Amino acid sequence: MTATTATRRGLRLDRPDERGRFGDYGGMFAPETLMPALEELAADFAEAWADSAFVDTFYHLLDVYTGRPTPLHGADRLSEEIGVRVLLKREDLAHTGAHKINNALGQALLATRTSKTRLIAETGAGQHGVATATAAAYTGLECLVYMGEKDIERQALNVQRMRMLGTDVIPVTSGAGTLKDAVNEAMRDWVRTVETTHYIIGSVVGPHPFPWMVREFQKVIGEESVEQLGGEIPDVVVACVGGGSNAIGMFYAFAGRDDVELIGVEAGGHGIETGRHGASIGAGSPGILHGARTYMLQDDEGQVLEAHSISAGLDYPGVGPEHAYFADTGLARYVSIADDEALEGVDLLSRTEGIIPALESAHAIAWVAKEADALRDRTVLINLSGRGDKDVEMIADKAGMR
Ligand SMILES: *Cc1c(COP(=O)(O)O)cnc(C)c1O
Repeated sequence: MTATTATRRGLRLDRPDERGRFGDYGGMFAPETLMPALEELAADFAEAWADSAFVDTFYHLLDVYTGRPTPLHGADRLSEEIGVRVLLKREDLAHTGAHKINNALGQALLATRTSKTRLIAETGAGQHGVATATAAAYTGLECLVYMGEKDIERQALNVQRMRMLGTDVIPVTSGAGTLKDAVNEAMRDWVRTVETTHYIIGSVVGPHPFPWMVREFQKVIGEESVEQLGGEIPDVVVACVGGGSNAIGMFYAFAGRDDVELIGVEAGGHGIETGRHGASIGAGSPGILHGARTYMLQDDEGQVLEAHSISAGLDYPGVGPEHAYFADTGLARYVSIADDEALEGVDLLSRTEGIIPALESAHAIAWVAKEADALRDRTVLINLSGRGDKDVEMIADKAGMR
């Protein structure tokens, strides 16, 4: 056990309140049939997270299984090229290639502790599905992942990875056959099987206790960064925001400090003015989505609008309720980067540092490059949420079309 384990455990859990609310956001807006399961999950997680044996096991596995701590890398050539000192937190080096494994492993351990025998999840591009399938194989739990049939076609590699890991990938043919329909199927499954099954949500979204629990499993990112900085404080901390789990995981350790500016970068898609984007905070409004009150993309009648982004991980019409709270209280500022700018971010980091970032993470890189003049002489810490192997084909296609 490292010295930091005590500090991590000692952190006060001020947010959310006992009803799962972050100010005006969050809460538990779920079907009657799920309320007891959510209450039970909240109690189980609170108990587990207060149990040093559980916490120690989790942090130990993060080290020996997922390869933590991930390095903090001084990006010298990138810094020189754009004239801003950039540090990269290398979540791309975590097992399975992104931060998502921290959360999947945490929830799988909790499921084991509460004697569940079965994990379910839904996935769009397959990244969360792969992290869940990995955690299921590690803990020996049965696992089933719902995925729209269109997404199954588009994401053959991740489907194959999940199957190799022993997970059943279930095609969802209802609706448009994409993520939204897979969420509905997963919910239907959970309502039927809640006695034996844990539903692993992949970001800081959904009803209480998910936004809180997922943040707790991801806050290791910021805690490690603080330790690795050795007393130095960055001026600006930047992360991309889809549901917001990598961002809150990084921000939490810095939140509330006057000397650090927190920047969340949402998907600008084709441009905010086109209406085809994923900027839930930047261009959305408060409403209820997937069990929580938060900023979301909706029309005048409150119908959920489709999100658009070149990166599947940012292609979501809502955002975690704690980010809504951060936005309203000024704890963080939210900006957006368009698809073509993100592609330039991939190119920039690949060329200068020899790191091909995920398209999601490239949004954070691109924002720093775009704002270089304003950021001159400041130190910027970027959370590099994942690696770009999954995006190579897409990027090659776009390059061919230019
Ligand atoms: C899934 C994903 C994201 C978006 O999810 P958050 O919950 O917003 O972190 C960002 N980056 C990568 C690499 C991802 O796989």
